[in-house]
Amino acid sequence: QPQQAPYVPQPDPVRGAAVKAADRAHVFHSWSAQELIDPLAVAGARGSYFWDYEGRRYLDFTSGLVFTNIGYQHPKVVAAIQEQAASLTTFAPAFAIEARSEAARRIAERTPGDLDKIFFTNGGAEAVENAVRMARVHTKRPKVLSAYRSYHGATAAAINLTGDPRRWANDQGSAGTVHFWAPFLYRTAFYAANEAEECERALQHLADTIAYEGPSTIAAIVLESVPGTAGIMVPPVGYLRGVRELCDQYGIVFVLDEVMAGFGRTGRWFAAEHFDVVPDLLTFAKGVNSGYVPLGGVAIGGRIADTFARTPYPGGLTYSGHPLACAAAVATIDVMEEEGIVEGAERLGREVVEPALRDLAARHPSVGEVRGLGMFWALELVRDRETREPLTPYNASGEAAAPMAAFAAEAKKHGLWPFVNMNRTHVVPPLNVTEAELKEGFAALDAALGVADGFVG
Ligand code: PMP
Repeated sequence: QPQQAPYVPQPDPVRGAAVKAADRAHVFHSWSAQELIDPLAVAGARGSYFWDYEGRRYLDFTSGLVFTNIGYQHPKVVAAIQEQAASLTTFAPAFAIEARSEAARRIAERTPGDLDKIFFTNGGAEAVENAVRMARVHTKRPKVLSAYRSYHGATAAAINLTGDPRRWANDQGSAGTVHFWAPFLYRTAFYAANEAEECERALQHLADTIAYEGPSTIAAIVLESVPGTAGIMVPPVGYLRGVRELCDQYGIVFVLDEVMAGFGRTGRWFAAEHFDVVPDLLTFAKGVNSGYVPLGGVAIGGRIADTFARTPYPGGLTYSGHPLACAAAVATIDVMEEEGIVEGAERLGREVVEPALRDLAARHPSVGEVRGLGMFWALELVRDRETREPLTPYNASGEAAAPMAAFAAEAKKHGLWPFVNMNRTHVVPPLNVTEAELKEGFAALDAALGVADGFVG
């Protein structure tokens, strides 16, 4: 394997300032990025790092938005995109294209059970949107159930399913959407004392919700396998199996959203494997090609595939299975196999990340809980470990979230780019991050948590 020359972009502050000025003037950003007064202008990225125009380097503990599962600029994936661009950059979706059929084959071979047909989209929200439509057409029922404390995307159906209090500002009316509480012992909605009780009560609550809504009106239950954006809340053993049984009992389509958790993030190809469940529909995006070209999709199980073999699905997208995105997926999946990236994430998570985070929690009173699996971890920061009061309570007025801002600023000073959402920091580096890089990141987290500790009490 030839050594790559170390990559360091030339500092160019003048260009950086021009990039930032044009961005401020003309780019309408997503979500909280709209509140940034001084965004970072990025000059380049390689592996687990990116650089600004001043020449400062940051270790990326966010994987972008949890999508660069194989890091930035992997040479084999970049080459595959270039080769596809040289041979067939684009083509309409109705034709059989090698990049598309090979991507679909690789994905179907790795999804659990009989999820063997792949409907391609341009990202996660479109995948959720189409999964919901498939479920409604398949069942001829109107309602969809989803969990509070979830994120499913920002298009019409997906934003309504999203269980985040901030969604109401752009809610379309939630037609046909019903929310329920999923298990999360640290902030239990069920006054449960342990995981087993939390699981049992959450399943009873879901059964009650189904009964009150009317089973014959419910098309689908949509759940993240491991809710990500809302806090990386690993469900108790037995919960997803219980949901599967309820779906079977009432003929409800079980949609598992693996947009964030899929493609190795949890140390398995799909998180469903940890819980021994096979959904009827599985949504994916992000890690499928490490986000190099927008791609998402729905993996479709046998029963629903049969429905649409008889009556065509009334849906589709101009760029469904775009050749560039699919070529990137083929190369990404091959790289993940060749380099043992999924197994590596499982091992690094268990042997390095978890012990290091538990050690940080033991030494920093601001850490209320450590939770996660694989390369998918959250630290929940609190003012008080007893009351579990969040370090930054949700602030509807949008006031600056000072403690978490101070935490993030300190991490950045130490060369770490942290993921921050409300009172949590998520540790979600690329799956092929090295042990040395992780140690560097934990040292920066140590310093940043020292700042967070200053707000305790
Ligand atoms: N589902 C889940 C579980 C997600 O994490 C996300 C994105 N964070 C989405 C859906 C939406 O994906 P996209 O932003 O690509 O539309």
